[in-house]
Amino acid sequence: MNVNKDMYALGTAPSVIREIFSFGLERAKVVGPENVLDFSLGNPSVPAPKEVQETIVNIVNTQEPKQFHSYTPGPGAPDTRKAIADNLNKRYATNFGLEDVYMTCGAAASLNIVLKSIITKPEDEVICVIPFFPEYTCFIQTQGGTQVLAEPDEDLNIDLAKLEAVITPNTKGIIINSPNNPSGVIYPEANIKAVCELLDKKQKEYGHPIYIIADEPYRELVFTDEKVVFLPTVYKNTIVCYSWSKSLSLPGERIGYIALTKDCEDYASLIPAINGAGRAMGYVCAPSMMQQVVRDCIDVEPDLEPYKVNRDILYNALVEYGYNVAKPSGAFYMYIEAPDKDAEAFCKKAMDYDLLLVPGTGFGTPSYMRLAYCVEKEKIEKSLPIFKKMMEEYK
Ligand code: PLP
Repeated sequence: MNVNKDMYALGTAPSVIREIFSFGLERAKVVGPENVLDFSLGNPSVPAPKEVQETIVNIVNTQEPKQFHSYTPGPGAPDTRKAIADNLNKRYATNFGLEDVYMTCGAAASLNIVLKSIITKPEDEVICVIPFFPEYTCFIQTQGGTQVLAEPDEDLNIDLAKLEAVITPNTKGIIINSPNNPSGVIYPEANIKAVCELLDKKQKEYGHPIYIIADEPYRELVFTDEKVVFLPTVYKNTIVCYSWSKSLSLPGERIGYIALTKDCEDYASLIPAINGAGRAMGYVCAPSMMQQVVRDCIDVEPDLEPYKVNRDILYNALVEYGYNVAKPSGAFYMYIEAPDKDAEAFCKKAMDYDLLLVPGTGFGTPSYMRLAYCVEKEKIEKSLPIFKKMMEEYK
C-alpha cells in the first residue's frame, strides 16, 4: 500500500454513527422519513437566527465579491478577532486582544491546531474525561500524542481522585468539554475550581504547564441557571476552542476560533506555534464571508426554546418510565443508561422500532446511550411510547 496506513485505517474504520444514519435513510424509504426517529446526529434543528441570513444578504448586496471572497490574513480578519475579544471581555471581564484570537474552521480545527502546538513527543499525554467526544481519540493520536482517560464520578462530573490518579509528568493537557457531549452535563463551578487547584498543584510539582483545552461549542446552549465557568477566568493556562456550529446553527460553515490570554504560560511561543500549526495543516484564513458574519452577529443569542421543550418532555417521561438519565443541563444531548447496562443491545432492539440512538461505547461508557434531541418535537413525542414499551420489556 502506497498510502499512509494510519490515515487509511481512519478513513476505512467503521463508524457507528454513519452506519446508524445510513440505516435511517434506508428505513425512511420504506416507512417514510416522518416515522424514522433518528436521534443519532448532533445537527442543530433550530435554524440559524434570521440575523445570519440578513448579514449574508447585506454583505453580498453592499460589497464587491472580491471583498468577501478574498483571503484574510492567516489567523483571521483583525476586525473579526477584535469583535470576539471585545465580546469575551464584556461577558467575562477578561482582557483579550485581537492578537490572542486565531480564527479556525470550527472546533475540530481549533482542537487539532492546539494539540499540534503543545504535543512535542509520543509520550505526551492528553487527558479526556469520560464520557468524551470520540473524535478526541483521533485528534490526539493524529497530532502525535497519547490519550489518557479519566473516569467520572457517578453524576458524570469530574472525579478528582480518579483524575489525580492519571496525571503524570507526561501530562501536557486535559480537554474539558462543558456543557458536555454526550452527557449534557455542565460541570459545577466547585468541581471545575477543584480541578483547577489540582492541576495547578501538579504543574508546580512537575515544573511545566498542564494546559486546559476548553472545548466549548456548547457554551451558549444552557437550559438551567447553572453557571458555565469560563475557564480562562479561573485557570490561566487555558486555551479556548470555540465554534459557532451549534450556537448559531452553522455546522456546515466551518467557523470557530482559538483564544488564550497573555497570562497563559509560554504565551509568547504558543501564539507562533498556533500560527505554525494552522499553517502546517492548511487551517489558515477561515471562511472569509463567515468571519464577517460572526463579527456582525457577535451579540446574537440562539433560540434555545425548541431544545428546552424537547429536553423537558423527554427527560420527564424517561424518568417516569424508570430510566436513569444524566441530568441534562446543556448541549442538546441526553445520556441514558440501558436498563440492563448493555447499551449496544438496547440500541439494536430500538432499531426494530426505527428509534435510532448511539451506544456509548465510543464515548467511553458502554452502559449508556446518547440521544440527540435536536429534532422536531413530533419525533420526541412519537418516541415516548416506544421508550415506555421497551422499559416494560426489560422489567
Ligand atoms: N467538540 C465537541 C464536543 C463536539 O460535539 C463537536 C461537534 O459535534 C466538535 C468539537 C466539533 O465541532 P465543529 O463542528 O465546530 O468542528
